[in-house]
Amino acid sequence: MTRPGWDWTAEEIRAAGHRVADVVADHLTGLPDEPVFRPVPAAESARRRAEPAPRTGVPFDAVLDEVVARVLPHPFGNGHPRFFGWVNSPPGVAGVLAEALAAAVNPSVAGGNSAAVHLEHQVVRWFAELAGFPPDAGGLLVSGGSAATLTAFAVARHRAAARVGIDVRADGLQGSDHRFTAYVGAEGHGCAHKAIDLLGIGSANLRTIGSDADRRMRPDLLREALAGDVAAGRVPVVVMATVGTVNTGAIDDVGALAAVCREFDVWLHVDGAYGGPAVLLHERYAATRAALAGVDSIALDPHKWLYVPVDAGLLLLREPGLARDAFSLVPAYLRTDGDEHGVAGPPWFSEFGLEQTRPFRALKVWTMLRHVGLDGYRDLIDGDLRAAAHLADAVRADPGLELLAHGMSIVVFRCAEGAPGVDGGRDPDALDRAVLRDVQLGGRAFLSGTTLDGAFALRACVVNPGTTTADVDALLAAVRDAATRGGRPRSPRVGP
Ligand SMILES: *Cc1c(COP(=O)(O)O)cnc(C)c1O
Repeated sequence: MTRPGWDWTAEEIRAAGHRVADVVADHLTGLPDEPVFRPVPAAESARRRAEPAPRTGVPFDAVLDEVVARVLPHPFGNGHPRFFGWVNSPPGVAGVLAEALAAAVNPSVAGGNSAAVHLEHQVVRWFAELAGFPPDAGGLLVSGGSAATLTAFAVARHRAAARVGIDVRADGLQGSDHRFTAYVGAEGHGCAHKAIDLLGIGSANLRTIGSDADRRMRPDLLREALAGDVAAGRVPVVVMATVGTVNTGAIDDVGALAAVCREFDVWLHVDGAYGGPAVLLHERYAATRAALAGVDSIALDPHKWLYVPVDAGLLLLREPGLARDAFSLVPAYLRTDGDEHGVAGPPWFSEFGLEQTRPFRALKVWTMLRHVGLDGYRDLIDGDLRAAAHLADAVRADPGLELLAHGMSIVVFRCAEGAPGVDGGRDPDALDRAVLRDVQLGGRAFLSGTTLDGAFALRACVVNPGTTTADVDALLAAVRDAATRGGRPRSPRVGP
């Protein structure tokens, strides 16, 4: 007797798989003809909230029908060539397919002498080499930049605490007379704050270091802050620099910051969640790349500018042994490091981070790297940079718009004061907010908003090799139309 939903023959797997492949092909190639974004209708979300858990199963075909009818029509826009919101890239096709293959193997990549473990080590090594890290460097794949940053900060905290005689794993920071501090640029990502909160350092002890005119963290101000804290007996734990801020694509002077960190012997973590791939691959960023060799850890997100399907974050560590000290539950005297070719394999990833059962993220990253190649990636990233430069040029040339910032593939702009529909320039923020809403709901293009120097602004990020200059022009046309209408919201386009 076959059990419903469980016993599949090879023929059934093949037939259902082929149908899924058809759906994937239609979805990915059909996106450009759909509205960029189409909110989930209220009736549909209400239906979702009301539906009870199914008591009996239905054939997979029926489930797939429902996915096609009710799920796929409502993505958040990413994948569409005219989607410019946040930092959300389209999934590379090879990565999508690799995701299914990884699930078919379904290992726990906690560790063990399985191919998945060796693939992950290979992927880590490839990136470590690109960053100029030494041969004994290491790292691991995690869910994203936030997890990579939390992991790096935990390692830095462990090292800093040990130096002042605190066993942070046993005692936490409880009862310690020491005050621990951390440092992030004013444009640094919020994940630094989250990590500092969670690690018990407390965001009141996270120093925000001011920026220069190019929105880069100022090394002189960092030195001042560190010197002040050290003089007051505080214990600096970590400094987070950023290569590619999420707001404007600003790139910190990693070399100068690293020199300051060396002076105070403090951990330097580099947030390359967005810009890391460009820094590692594009000749334009060679100077920054060279400086990476002198930092302690780097976070970068293959699920952003390497177009690997979510989730895929990467943490590179100059001295992976420090991560083992911070996370391993295996006492040093019991570690089985002599079984590289036996059952245990290399030291387990689960000793170097938070996760125990770990997904086979490496397969999709490795597949994309093998399929696209470093040269291919350089070209794709270059195309994104050029599309963003085209946008910046077009904004500059338009008297109705004002360019506020352009860094890497990010362009920040707003409607120029006094432009048509700007309400005599009395309330430019209100107009840009209305333009944003109008564009997002209009379905022709999608961008997101941000705040720059206290003012609201429109922000576009190109991390999609499918985005052409015509798509960029379509975005600007949508913005101009919305501004001309005075940002008056109109009803969203419905249907395909
Ligand atoms: C996206 C991003 C993060 C956070 O990474 P997640 O993958 O979303 O957790 C951190 N820093 C920068 C610069 C980012 O763009």
